[in-house]
Amino acid sequence: AKCRDHGELLSAPSRCKKTYGFLISCRLEGKVALVTGGASGIGESTVRLLCRHGAQVVVADIQDDKGKALCVELGGPAVATYIHCDVTDESHVRDAVDAAVATYGTLDIVLSNAGIAGSSEPSILETKKEDFEKVVAVNLTGMFLVTKHAARVMIPARRGSIVITSSVASVNGGLGLFAYTSTKHAVVGLCKEAAAELGRHGVRVNCVSPYFVATEMTRKFFGVDDGTLEAAAEATGNLKGVRLKAEDIAEAVLYLASDDARYVSGHNLVVDGGITVVNLGLL
Ligand code: NAD
Repeated sequence: AKCRDHGELLSAPSRCKKTYGFLISCRLEGKVALVTGGASGIGESTVRLLCRHGAQVVVADIQDDKGKALCVELGGPAVATYIHCDVTDESHVRDAVDAAVATYGTLDIVLSNAGIAGSSEPSILETKKEDFEKVVAVNLTGMFLVTKHAARVMIPARRGSIVITSSVASVNGGLGLFAYTSTKHAVVGLCKEAAAELGRHGVRVNCVSPYFVATEMTRKFFGVDDGTLEAAAEATGNLKGVRLKAEDIAEAVLYLASDDARYVSGHNLVVDGGITVVNLGLL
C-alpha cells in the first residue's frame, strides 16, 4: 500500500511522519467507510480525516453539489465517491450501503451522522407534533436505518465499526429542543441494543457526543458567525482556552472507527471538555 499523502510505500503497521510535520498513522489503509451527512460540518471533517488515514469513503448526503465537490477535492473515485441519500428513505440507505460494497469491495466503517436540529420552542406546549416527527425521522429513524443496513453487510463479514453521532443533548436537557434532545438520548439506546446484538458477529457500535461546534446546523440555529459561536461555546464550556472544532469530533470518530478501539463497544464518547460533568446549573 502507498501513503496517499506522500506516495511512500507502507507496510502494516505503517507510519508516515511527514503530514503536517507531526506523526500521523495511515491506520485505515484498505478500509472502506460510509459517512451520512458527509457533505458538511462534522461529517465533512470526518470524511477528510478518514481519507487522510488511508480509507476510501462514500459520502452520503442530500446536498449533492457540496458532496460531489468534496469528493473531487479529495481525489475522485479512487478515494471518495458521493451518493445522494436521504436517510429517512430506506431504499436510499440500502443503496448507499450497497454502493460502498459495489464500489470499494467491502464496508468496514459507518458514521451515521446526518441530523437536523429542528426548531427551538420555548415550551413543550408549543411543540407541534409534525415538527417533532420531522426531527425523529432524520435523527432517530434515519440512524436506525443506517445502523440496520450497515449491520446487513457487516454481520456476514464478521467485522465492522458503526459510529452514531449523538450529542451532549444525550446527557442533559435544557436546549429548548424537545425533539432533538429526545432523539439524541434515543440513539444511545439504539447504539446499546445494536452493540449487544452485533458484538456476537464481531461488529462494534458506539456513539460520539459533541458539545457545540460551529457548523451549518449551529450557524443557522444561533444565527451568528463561526467566531462568535466558538467564543460563546468556549466561554460557557468547561475547558477554558480551548475551542472545540469539528476536527476534534472527527478525531474521536477515527478512534472509535479504528482497530485502536477494537474492544470498545456500546460506549457513548462525550467530547465536551468536561462540561456535562460540572454543569449542575449552580454556577
Ligand atoms: P451540518 O448541518 O453541518 O451537517 C449535517 C449534514 O446532514 C448536512 O450535510 C445535511 O445536508 C445532512 N442531512 C440533513 N438531513 C439529511 C437527510 N435526511 N439525509 C441525509 N443527510 C441529511 O451539522 P453538523 O453540526 O455537522 O451535524 C452533524 C451531526 O452532529 C448531527 O447529527 C448533529 O445533531 C450532531 N451534533 C452537532 C453538534 C454541533 O454543535 N454542531 C453538537 C452535537 C451533535
